[in-house]
Amino acid sequence: MSAVPPKPVLISGGGPVGLIAAYALAKEGIPSIVFDENSELQEDPRAATTHPATLELLAKLGIVDQVIEQGLTAAIFRFWDRPTGELIAEFDHALLKDDTEFPFVVQCEQFKLTHILLDLIDGMDNCDVRFSHRVIGVDAGEDEVTITVQTPGVNEQISGSYLIGCDGGRSVFAKKWISPLKASPGPNGFWS
Ligand SMILES: Cc1cc2nc3c(=O)[nH]c(=O)nc-3n(C[C@H](O)[C@H](O)[C@H](O)COP(=O)(O)OP(=O)(O)OC[C@H]3O[C@@H](n4cnc5c(N)ncnc54)[C@H](O)[C@@H]3O)c2cc1C
Repeated sequence: MSAVPPKPVLISGGGPVGLIAAYALAKEGIPSIVFDENSELQEDPRAATTHPATLELLAKLGIVDQVIEQGLTAAIFRFWDRPTGELIAEFDHALLKDDTEFPFVVQCEQFKLTHILLDLIDGMDNCDVRFSHRVIGVDAGEDEVTITVQTPGVNEQISGSYLIGCDGGRSVFAKKWISPLKASPGPNGFWS
């Protein structure tokens, strides 16, 4: 008798967090499906500085060398006041040399990281990334979760073992459907 294959983990959002989650799961042999509402990876610069703790995480996943290769390393990190040109603060990461393998930051825009991840995921058969798929609803049961996904043509319902909400800092989705602390909107009608 063949074993029933596990239902995939569903991941809402294909930014750096969603793709890292998918890649980490795939490396452990756990299938997943990533849904992103955009038609392709975002190319806006946004996050550029990757700090030591994140570099350690990327090292565990075996991709830190690619990130370092595509970025610029800097041991010294400075904050400047733009109008006056005054130096506000300076952090010398070399001071962390006994605490981390990576006593520096790497300036590598997040779109470069997502491309590295997507290329790796594309070569794996247990992870599927679906662009132009917006998650619009979730129904969590005892043993599985079912999401409603809006695609250009049609709405689909897809079931998985878990749902990971990686749909960004402005995630209406996480606030509305995931947060156990906020089961209904506030008196002003907004989810806070
Ligand atoms: C100007 C700026 C500069 C920054 N600089 C730094 C920095 O230097 N260093 C640093 O560490 N961080 C920085 N950050 C923060 C960093 O960009 C975020 O922490 C990072 O993007 C979070 O990644 P994420 O994958 O959680 O979310 P996101 O990158 O926002 O990705 C979320 C994805 O989910 C998709 N999505 C949203 N809703 C749905 C839905 N319902 N269904 C399907 N898909 C959905 C979105 O289209 C998006 O692709 C910066 C942010 C900004 C705005």
